[in-house]
Amino acid sequence: MTWLLPRILTTLLAMVVGGVAGTFVQRRDAVVLGAMLGCALVLGAIAVRDTVRGYGLLGWLRGSQEGEAPRHVGLWGELAYRIERSIRLREQQAQAERNRLTQFLAAIEASPNGVMLLDAGDQIEWCNSLAADHFSLDPQRDRRQPITNLVRAPAFVAYLQAGRFDEAVEVPDPRSKRELSVLVREYDEGQKLVLSQDITERERSDGMRRDFVANVSHEIRTPLTVLSGFIETMANLPLTEVERKRVLVLMAQQADRMGTLVADLLILAQLEGSPRPTADRWVALKPLLDRVAVDAKALSAGRHTLVFPADTGLQVAGAQEELFSAISNLVGNAVRYTPDGGTIKVSCDVQADGAGVIAVTDTGPGIAREHLPRLTERFYRVDGSRSRDTGGTGLGLAIVKHVAQRHGGELDIQSEVGKGSVFRLVLPAVRLRGAAALPAATLPAAGQTAAADSALAS
Ligand code: ADP
Repeated sequence: MTWLLPRILTTLLAMVVGGVAGTFVQRRDAVVLGAMLGCALVLGAIAVRDTVRGYGLLGWLRGSQEGEAPRHVGLWGELAYRIERSIRLREQQAQAERNRLTQFLAAIEASPNGVMLLDAGDQIEWCNSLAADHFSLDPQRDRRQPITNLVRAPAFVAYLQAGRFDEAVEVPDPRSKRELSVLVREYDEGQKLVLSQDITERERSDGMRRDFVANVSHEIRTPLTVLSGFIETMANLPLTEVERKRVLVLMAQQADRMGTLVADLLILAQLEGSPRPTADRWVALKPLLDRVAVDAKALSAGRHTLVFPADTGLQVAGAQEELFSAISNLVGNAVRYTPDGGTIKVSCDVQADGAGVIAVTDTGPGIAREHLPRLTERFYRVDGSRSRDTGGTGLGLAIVKHVAQRHGGELDIQSEVGKGSVFRLVLPAVRLRGAAALPAATLPAAGQTAAADSALAS
């Protein structure tokens, strides 16, 4: 009210001045008239000044209010100051709200889930880019569109229409071969928060795990059934000594088969569950290949020509038993699948880029092109009965691939039906040493050179 006092004082002063001036006029009521005139003049001046200042402030308010409000003293000054301050305060609050909203949206944008907001009529209010990707939406163009016009997957539409949102629904998309898990939560008055998650990978690995368990069960059940049959036979039938021995041999074979399967499963589990082999443990290849050669000779029992390289001095940084398991799986396969009289050649070479290649070449039946990409899948067999008859578990190449990858390398398979196969275990240069000692060409073991080379050349 500090602005009111000067106005009252000025008016009173004008009245006094008007009254004093009236004393100079020779009329009875001149003093009163002078005082009233002074009062009217001051009030009029104040009204004119207020109108001018009021319009100035109104002009500023009608404009963008970017500059300062008109600066005056008194009533209009205080009014302008308070209005401007309240506007600036609101602007700051709105800016803070906008910043908070931007941060909030950025956080939702970074969410690993798709997030979409629907209004009470199921029209899209907002969605993050992941939700847009999941439902093939355009966040700008599709705003305010009913979601069911754009996402027509029957499972999703039925879920939304049923209105029971206690559990998520799985929504397959045959076009993109993707599977989404969608969960809706209602809030406010019928508005909905739609959370979506791409579960394609999870479903795939769940499927793989289910297949794996089914395969393992199947592989174990077969020898188990045979064993049970033999046990029943022995328990119920009087067998001659010869028959008894034959049945025992067959039972031992089935038990061995189960044993081999369990051993391979354990190797795979160990490969998956242990850290990658460090690159500071050097394994000499020669003794490793000697061990493989002993096993291969026993398995082949003289039916094949086996060629192993001379000592190359080559060493590989890695896990000795894993490398042994990988190479002996490749050589074992070559022996098992190559018909009698065939040749199996093992070689160690260093490529121009420094990578080491341990190759197992055979003169076996070869493998048709369409099978090659699937050979390293667990339990994948080209010829199931041939594999089982020769003691295969269907896990050998899966183990080799794992070992190669754990050593930073890869398994390369080249094969053609009727022309044999080459399985190459390629190891990176950083895991090799002693390559200088490598002879230019791989030397076959003494006494086997000519036969092997001619067989491989043919
Ligand atoms: P298995 O225990 O059945 O041999 P692997 O994983 O070692 O399982 O091999 C997968 C399949 O690849 C085999 O069943 C066989 O059909 C094929 N295979 C592997 N090595 C050879 C080879 N040297 N020659 C022909 N076929 C092969």
